[in-house]
Amino acid sequence: MNLDLSKVIKGLQNQLDFDYNLALEKSYLESIECKGASVIHVFGHVKKIDKRYDLTLTYSGDLVFECHRCLCEVNINLEHTVERVLVTIADMDEVEEVVLIENGHLNMLPVLEEDITLNLPLQILCKEDCAGLCPHCGKDLNMSMCACEKTKIDPRLEALKNLFT
Ligand SMILES: [Zn+2]
Ligand SMILES: [Zn+2]
Repeated sequence: MNLDLSKVIKGLQNQLDFDYNLALEKSYLESIECKGASVIHVFGHVKKIDKRYDLTLTYSGDLVFECHRCLCEVNINLEHTVERVLVTIADMDEVEEVVLIENGHLNMLPVLEEDITLNLPLQILCKEDCAGLCPHCGKDLNMSMCACEKTKIDPRLEALKNLFT
């Protein structure tokens, strides 16, 4: 999604407001192991301040993931505001962390993707105490216990047992 900033760059207007619905790219969703996403509502403005442009971008949407333990679907509602400094290539200072305006346009997608990645929980769980799946029979232990638990052999005992046979 490219935002045309040419009027702000030329000084024809001081601020550009935007409001869009964006679809995240499949390759990005795959990279964060997301199973699906709603359209992402993105709105905000770019304001000219001297040779810089301040971006304020608020986004909201839903992403669907698999619970890391039991694999059931987990819906994550994201809502966040990003603030960034934009510069054109002529005013680029390599030391600073800024977003580059290319040919008068800002590509919002990388800004959005980066922020979503930063704001995702480290471990996605359907609930904090999700019991997960039994590693032996695959049963969802949130529903009920399986029979494996009772017959499970301590791996240390198993190793000892092998020594004597
Ligand atoms: Zn779970
Ligand atoms: Zn089991």
